[in-house]
Order: sequence, then structure tokens, then C-alpha cells
Amino acid sequence: MTQSTPAIVILGQASLATARRIQQVYPAAQIHGLAGRVEGADLVYQAFGETLRELYQQDTPIIALCAAGIVIRTLAPLLLEKGAEPAVLAVAEDGSAVVPLLGGLGGVNVMARDIAAGLQVTAAITTSGELRFGTCLLNPPSGYALADLEAGKRFVSDLLAGHSVRIEGAAPWLDQAQLPQDPQAQRAIHVGSGVRVARADELLIYPRSVAVAVSAAVDDVANAVRASLQQAKVALQSLACLVAADSEIASANLREAALELGVPLRFVAAQPDIEALARAAVPGTAVVTANGLAIAVAEQPLQVSSIGRPRGRLAVIGLGPGAAELMVPAVKAELARATDVLGYETYVRMAGPFRDDQVQHCTDNREEMQRARHAFRLAAAGRSVIVVSSGDPGVFAMAAAVLEALHESNDPAWHSVDLEILPGVSASLATAAQAGAPLGHDFCVMSLSDNLKPWSIIEKRLDLAAEADLALAFYNPISRARPWQLGRALEIVARHRVPQTPVVLGRDIGRPGQTLRTTTLGELTPDQVDMRTMVLIGSSTTCTFARADGKTWVYTPRWYGEKPVG
Ligand code: SAH
Repeated sequence: MTQSTPAIVILGQASLATARRIQQVYPAAQIHGLAGRVEGADLVYQAFGETLRELYQQDTPIIALCAAGIVIRTLAPLLLEKGAEPAVLAVAEDGSAVVPLLGGLGGVNVMARDIAAGLQVTAAITTSGELRFGTCLLNPPSGYALADLEAGKRFVSDLLAGHSVRIEGAAPWLDQAQLPQDPQAQRAIHVGSGVRVARADELLIYPRSVAVAVSAAVDDVANAVRASLQQAKVALQSLACLVAADSEIASANLREAALELGVPLRFVAAQPDIEALARAAVPGTAVVTANGLAIAVAEQPLQVSSIGRPRGRLAVIGLGPGAAELMVPAVKAELARATDVLGYETYVRMAGPFRDDQVQHCTDNREEMQRARHAFRLAAAGRSVIVVSSGDPGVFAMAAAVLEALHESNDPAWHSVDLEILPGVSASLATAAQAGAPLGHDFCVMSLSDNLKPWSIIEKRLDLAAEADLALAFYNPISRARPWQLGRALEIVARHRVPQTPVVLGRDIGRPGQTLRTTTLGELTPDQVDMRTMVLIGSSTTCTFARADGKTWVYTPRWYGEKPVG
């Protein structure tokens, strides 16, 4: 079931009042208003289709105040892809109709009923089982897992056809439902954590009520867990989490096993043996040992977040140049799981919107090392932290600062943080792609900023790179505090390149108001460039030709020297 905060998307001013009423049902939800059409929304978006698809791909439930058809057409291209399936609803702009469209297993009907209650109308529920029984049997609450969706659908059809049902085991959420219950019924809903082959007339639901205590010393932890559960006749589907001693918090084995089994990994204080570990993790439950591991089986689903603590995570992410389509999916997933977001305010804003439970720590651009240390302190305390950079985090950005902070530290808690660097499309590559392929052969990337290195080394590198006939990509080409450096850099390059050498200037690439200009080294002057510009200078082989749309293609051929024949 989806737990995340929905987004309310509106297209016109007339919908704002209804959107505010829906917001009373979901106080954390933000209203996204179309730029130029809506005044006073919480967030402004530029393109409806892009925004809706992005929210969908981020698994954010969507409440769109517009015609159902528009929503369907917009999301249609994504529906065949495997992946996120959040709840999607269309609501009439005057609040008179609430139509659940997608995400039956994401709790869309529950949302439709809640919104409809808030608007004092009736939700347009079309799911027969749900209409008849007042609950979707195929969508048990979190903490429970349906054994088999297809079997479940058949089971619900049987009930719709008039069969009665009895409930075995604890299913508190079904007390409210209007199921045709009969203690003598042939059909049964069975809720339990034991290994069981469902009978044809049985709907199996597993409570996630089992924790397995593991140790990094075991080989193939995931298989050992499966074997121990099997030996103890406990269903794998009931596994809620793995637990281990906090002395093993940095173990890659355990991390991989948890990933493979698709369950969280929690850490508790080390104990004399593995049975004691399971007991310490889930006090007051029955513990059995099997296959060298200890299994704690509770009566009810486990509250995993209250068991021990998680291993903290720190991801240094690259947003790409700006446009959401140029952000890698791993970064999107990381943004969704983060508890804390650190970075220069502009980039944090670019990475959003964030949920209310995600803490934003915005800082000044210059405080890199402080920010890196702050990130480790949070992650070492078990938080899931992201440090945001634009473009790629390894290119004149936060990844190196984060690693330097770690290298300087001898705090074992910092070193056991789950640290990962997630790449992004760097500004030079995004700019090059729009211009054609100016970096199609060997090239050299430089920052012209002398804040962190002496100007003399920049001059030396420029001179040698230009002499070596590398195409050049300049980051941080100029700023108010560094007004003369670019002019000096261009003089050095001009010693080795003809004035006709193609130059590409990309400004705010992938962001609103982006501009791309093609010029030549002879015509380039520093006043055409600012700190939001990427400067690409061709090599001796870089050439240009007219595009059909009147613009210019720039490319550097793959060969060098004599053009190969054929
Ligand atoms: N990590 C970033 C670069 C940070 S240095 C990356 O990989 O892209 C900052 C410089 O990058 C700016 O001064 C500018 O030269 C360039 N830059 C960053 N984003 C840009 C964009 N969207 N368009 C053009 N240049 C950009």
C-alpha cells in the first residue's frame, strides 16, 4: 500500500478552491499549479505532461483536478512499463466527482473514499469486490502480504458469485468489512506465518511478523535465511527484516543478503549468541533456531522501524544539468528514500519537491567540507542522507569533498556508513549533446576557478592542453570575483588555435531559459559568458555545418590526422 504523500495537480485557477479542500484530507500534500495559469499554488510547474509522468515514475500518488481522459492519455505511455504504480485519481474541478483511475493495489479506492468524504460526494468506485465487501481483499494493509494475486482474484470472484467465507487467524482489518462470513464456509481466508500450500478454496495472507538474526560469518546469508525458514516451516513471505549485531554494521554480505531478500536490515547491540540476538531484537517473542540462525516469530506484523537501528546511508548524487529527463533513475529512487537532503539551496530546490518527513538542510555553496561532515554525522546516526550536486557529483562538486571528510576521519561510525556516489549528466556533456558532438574526440575538462588552486597551474594546464590539440571544456569560466581570468585563458588558447576554431556556449542547459550559442574563438569575448555558462572550445579538427532548422551542428570527428578512407 502506498504510504507517500500525494501530489495535487491543477491546471487552472478555478480548481484551487477544490484543491485546498482536498489538502485538508492530506495536509502534507502540495498543490502543483501550472505556471501562468494558477496564482497561489504551493509549487509551480511548467509542463503538465512532464510533471504528471515524473510524479508517476517517482511513485507519488496523483490527484489531478481535470478530465479523466487527459490523465489517462498523459500516463498511457508509462502504463506498459514495469515499475512504479502509484494511485492516480481524477477529480472534477468543482469537486463534484472523484474518479479512481489507477493503482488498485496502491490503495486508490481508499484515497477516493477519503477525498470524496472530504468533498461530501460519493467516490466513483468501480471495483466490484470492493463495492460489495467494503474492502479490497487483494490489497491488505501494510504489514501483510497476499500470497498470490491471481489466486486472490479468483477467490474474490467466487465470493462475488455468492460463496461465503470464514477467517482463520488474526485479520483485524477485516472486522469492518462486509464479508459474507459463515463459520461453516468452505472457503477460507487464512492469515498466518507458517509455510502452507494454499488449498483451491483458500486465500492466503502472510503477516510480516518474522525477524531472522544473522551473522556476516555465515556464507551465502540469503540462502541460509531461506533454508532456516524452510527448516522451521516459516513462510519466507512473512519475513519482515533481518537483524544482526551492530559490530557487523558495515558488512557487505549482510547488505547484499537483505537486498536479495527484499527486506530491511536492522542492527542491535552484540549478544553472546545468535538466539540472544533475536530475542534482543524482538523481545517477548518465540525464538526458534534452525540451520544455525535464530528466528523470532511474533503474533502480529513487526514494527520494523522500532527494531534496533538501520545502517546509515549517505548518497552523493548528481541531478544532471536540470531537466528531470536527464536525471538517472537511481538518483530519482534515492531522492524518494532520503530522510535528509543537504546541499546548496539552489540545487536542493532543484531536487525537490520533498515530502514533509524529509528534512532539508540548505547551506551556502562555499561550505563544502562542513556540509560533508554534517552529512556523515547524520548518516552515522542511522539517517538516509543525500548530498546534492548539479551535473555529476564527481565533477567539481561534492563527491570529492565527502571522500576527503571521510579520509580525514577516524570515527568508525563514519566509516561504516553505507556510502555511494550516484553519477549525473555533467554540464559539459549536456551542452555538447545539444551542439552535436564537439567532444567527440579527446578532450580536456578544466575549472577556470582559482579559488582552490593557484592561477599559475591553470595557465600551465591550459597551455599544455591547447598545445596538445585537445578540445577544451571550461567549467566556472568567470564570476564577479574572477573577472579577468577568462580573457587571459582565451589568450593562452589563441596561441595554439586559429580564430575560426568553433566555440560552443551553453547557458542554463536543461533549465528554464536555456541558451546555446555557436561562435568562434576569434569572436568570443568574456562578456558573452557568465558563471552559468559552459564553454566548449574545439580542437583543430572540430568543424561545423548548417542544420536544416537554421542552427549549427558542431562536431569533432573520431579520427585524427589523415581522414580514413571508406
Ligand atoms: N558538477 C557540475 C559542475 C559544477 S561547477 C557538473 O557536473 O555539471 C559549476 C559550473 O558548471 C558552472 O560555473 C557552469 O560553468 C557549469 N554548469 C553547471 N550547470 C550548468 C548548466 N545547466 N548549463 C551550463 N553550464 C552549467
